[in-house]
Amino acid sequence: MKIDRIETFLIAPRWLFCRVETDEGLVGWGEPVVEGRAEPVRSAVEVLSEYLLGEDPLRIEQHWQVLTKGGFYRGGPVLSSAVAGLDQALWDIAGQAYGAPVHALLGGPVRDRVRIYSWVGGDEPAELADAAAAQVAAGMTAIKMNASGRLGAIPTSSEVAAVVERLTAVRAVLGDDRDVALDFHGRASVAAARRILPELAPLRPLFVEEPVVPEQNHRLADIVTASAVPIATGERLFGRHEFLAPLQAGVAVLQPDLSHAGGISEVRRIGALAETYGAVLAPHCPLGPISLAASLQVAFATPNFLIQEQSIGIHYNQGSELLDYLVDPEPFRFVDGHLRRPEAPGLGITVDEKAVRDADRTGHAWRNPVWRHDDGSFAEW
Ligand SMILES: [Mg+2]
Repeated sequence: MKIDRIETFLIAPRWLFCRVETDEGLVGWGEPVVEGRAEPVRSAVEVLSEYLLGEDPLRIEQHWQVLTKGGFYRGGPVLSSAVAGLDQALWDIAGQAYGAPVHALLGGPVRDRVRIYSWVGGDEPAELADAAAAQVAAGMTAIKMNASGRLGAIPTSSEVAAVVERLTAVRAVLGDDRDVALDFHGRASVAAARRILPELAPLRPLFVEEPVVPEQNHRLADIVTASAVPIATGERLFGRHEFLAPLQAGVAVLQPDLSHAGGISEVRRIGALAETYGAVLAPHCPLGPISLAASLQVAFATPNFLIQEQSIGIHYNQGSELLDYLVDPEPFRFVDGHLRRPEAPGLGITVDEKAVRDADRTGHAWRNPVWRHDDGSFAEW
C-alpha cells in the first residue's frame, strides 16, 4: 500500500483538515492546525507531503521520525501541528487496514468511557452561574471557565476579588459532586498567580491551567508551591522534551493538544513521560471532530488520563459546528458527561467529505483577538 494523494481543507470556524488517500482506496483524516495560523500549517503539510507521497502509510513511526527531524530545523507550532495532523491520518489508515480502532493498536482500552468537560463563558459571576447550571442540566460532571479577563502584572485587590467571586459563584452551583477547572490563558504573572492561587484553594478547583505563558515555564515551581491547587499546562508545548521541565517543576496535569504536539504518536509518549512523575493527561481540544476523535483514542489507551476537553456547542464556534462535518454524530453523543468507547476502525468517525469540500470553498481567516490594557499596551488574550 502506498500514499497516493494528500489534500488539505480550510474549514470554518478555524480549522484545517488533511485527507490522505492510498493506492488501495483507504482514506485517513487528520486535523493539522494552529488556531489563527492555519495557512502556514497548510503550507507545511504541503512541503511534508513531498516526502510522504509514494510511501507505505503503515510505517507511522518511521515517517514521524523523518517528518519531525528530517528537515534539520525542528519543532515549533507550525511544523509540529503539520506533523500532528498527518500522524492522525496515518493512524486512521492503519486502523482501517488492520480492522481495529486506534486504541486497540495502542494496546487496547484501559477504560470504558471518557469523562469530558464543557466550557462556560460569561463576564459576570451571575452569567457564569447560569451557564454552569445549564451544563449541569445537560448532564456534565465538569466544566472549565476563564479565570479572568485582562489581568495586570500585579493584580489589584479588586482583580483578585473578581477571580474569587467568579469561582465562588460557579462552585455554589456545582456543589462538591461536580468539578470546575480554571484557565488563566497565560494572563497571570508569577507574582499574580502566587497572590491569587492561595485564595482559590479553599474552592478546590480541579486544576488551574496556564497561569503563565510558556516562556515563563521555568518559574512554574514557584507557582506549584504557592498553594495546593493542581497546576496544568501544555496546550502551547510541542514535544515531549518541552513537557519535561513543567513535570520537574511539579505540574500535576499535562495538556498536550493532539493537533499540535506531534499527533497520536507523540502525545502517547508525553503520557508515558507524565506517568513517571505521577502526572495525568487532560488533552487540550478546542478544535474540530478529527482532533477530538484522535484525543479520544489516546484517552481510551492511556492509564494516566484525567479528563478530555471538547468544544461541541462552544460559544466561539460561530457559523459552523463540530458535528457539521460528520456523517453520523453518534460517536460524540454525551452520556452522563462522558463519551463512550468508539469501536469503528481507525479514528472511529466518518468525515462528511462533501461537507468538508463545500466548506473549503469558502475557507476562513480566523485570527486571535488582540487585547490591550487600559493604557494601550498589549495584553495577553
Ligand atoms: Mg487553555
